[in-house]
Amino acid sequence: MINIDLTGKVALVTGGARGIGRAIALKLHEAGARVIVFDLDETGLNELKEITKEEVYKIDVSNFEEVQTISKIVLEKYEKVDILINNAGITRDNLVMRMNEKEWDMVLNVNLKSAFNMVKGFYRPMLKNRFGRIINMASVIGLMGNAGQANYAASKGGLIAFTKSVAKEFASKNITANAIAPGFIATPMTEQLTEANKEEYKKVIPLKRFGQPEDVANIVLFLSSQLSDYVTGQVINCDGGMIM
Ligand code: NAP
Repeated sequence: MINIDLTGKVALVTGGARGIGRAIALKLHEAGARVIVFDLDETGLNELKEITKEEVYKIDVSNFEEVQTISKIVLEKYEKVDILINNAGITRDNLVMRMNEKEWDMVLNVNLKSAFNMVKGFYRPMLKNRFGRIINMASVIGLMGNAGQANYAASKGGLIAFTKSVAKEFASKNITANAIAPGFIATPMTEQLTEANKEEYKKVIPLKRFGQPEDVANIVLFLSSQLSDYVTGQVINCDGGMIM
């Protein structure tokens, strides 16, 4: 029997209080890792803490200074982070013609700059221990673009390019970096879509349904484990066949 055992590993999930991030946090906890969560949703954070019995931090991951400050506190307590999942993300959809600077900046800062902030905050113990797993939550939109989502598509496309660069910079230290590109996953983020839109999207998904947060968490589990030791710089789609 193959068993994925992450006992002894410390994982950190951003945006882990709900949706895909919560499923990831629970999956890694189930596999034996100590799981720390950064998020803005205080209620979700407290619910998760009840389950994992580990630290949760209400923090804006797009804020460089805040991340560096909290990273010192986390590393003092846990001494290392082995598995870093940059999952926090937002949408502020609008056509480019109507999109304002704030909508552009917010999405780029939360979805892309946060990954830079987090890697800067936590790469040192990975280097020291010659082990690290960095997993960035991209999106199929970052591969294909989407009308009304230029900011989101640019942030996720940028995140994929960031992932590949980090993979190349850290490979010699046994630190891997990979991205996951989910399609439509049933979470509060996609709850905002109208029923009519959801039905339209399902038509272009070969599996004819939205994925579940757990489908994404399963890929994170694989990328966190030794089963993926020889995988780096990759984008793994989790989209019911939307892009192939
Ligand atoms: P979600 O349900 O909206 O959850 C995102 C979580 O991130 C929320 O708890 C949110 O907290 C938190 N967050 C937002 N901004 C933050 C910040 N600056 N600092 C810390 N935490 C922050 O989203 P999801 O659907 O699970 O998506 C998770 C990731 O997957 C995102 O990166 C998203 O782009 C990506 N993705 C999702 C789908 C999908 O279909 N759902 C598809 C492709 C990619 P607050 O709400 O309290 O601010």
